[in-house]
Amino acid sequence: MAFEGLAERLQGTLDKIRGKGKVTEADVKEMMREVRLALLEADVNFKVVKQFVNRVKERAVGQEVMKSLTPGQQVIKVVNDELKELMGGEQSKINVADKPPTVVMMVGLQGAGKTTTTAKLANHLRKDHNRKPLLVGADVYRPAAIDQLETLGKQLDMPVFSLGTEANPVDIAKQAMEEAKANHNDYVIIDTAGRLHVDEELMEELENIKAVTEPEEVLLVVDAMTGQDAVNVADSFNNQLDLSGVVMTKLDGDTRGGAAISIKAVTDTPIKFAGMGEKIDALEPFHPDRMASRILG
Ligand code: GDP
Repeated sequence: MAFEGLAERLQGTLDKIRGKGKVTEADVKEMMREVRLALLEADVNFKVVKQFVNRVKERAVGQEVMKSLTPGQQVIKVVNDELKELMGGEQSKINVADKPPTVVMMVGLQGAGKTTTTAKLANHLRKDHNRKPLLVGADVYRPAAIDQLETLGKQLDMPVFSLGTEANPVDIAKQAMEEAKANHNDYVIIDTAGRLHVDEELMEELENIKAVTEPEEVLLVVDAMTGQDAVNVADSFNNQLDLSGVVMTKLDGDTRGGAAISIKAVTDTPIKFAGMGEKIDALEPFHPDRMASRILG
């Protein structure tokens, strides 16, 4: 499970302060020294760790808590609150266009889980929001990506629009919009092409698709297992495409969790969903508070 090592270390550290009736500045300092190391070891971005530690210290040592020699529980609450804030604070929900269809562009590098997540998201929208999505296969580069999406569409009994691998992705997107209007689909979820690395050609294509479809959501799919690389990828995509959200996949794996904790702070883009397995229903809305509680116990 994700965050296992981090959770264990942080819980051990916090346990030492939990029962204290009085918390001194030295106690907080010692605790935060350990918290800092635990976060760094979990591959959280070092700047993010620094800011986090400073914020907690300020609040825990500041008037708010120390004036009345506050018990350990209160210090732990500060850590919990700040961890939740770090991961985005309130839950960020998926956007809905004023006028349907709502277009969602799924972007990301190959292997991150983009195609799988496209189908998972459609399933979630139908199951939990009573929507009628159209899936669009516009990943014309990865061999079998379109076939994979079509298979998933069949499994879900949901329409998939595609024009094969010879068509231009911008044309596919344009025609998909017409198809959605004709069939009254209220969401259009476009599985765009990924590459092995971020490159100009990819970004240009994505910008063009964005220009013709005017998406309400540009969701970057990143693999939590890739750690700080995921954060760097998010930074590049965000600079080019102005992302509206991130889907962090493979949080069911034994990732240390650094990417999930850092990505909002580094890119100012919230995680909207978490991929929790390979199955089609293994996608969950991302709740920063629940995630913080899971880490801190
Ligand atoms: P794409 O190249 O980004 O379209 O990647 P795919 O959708 O084909 O996914 C790559 C692999 O990751 C597949 O084997 C998926 O089953 C797997 N995968 C996707 N999301 C998750 C997830 O949340 N958890 C796990 N364990 N595997 C996932």
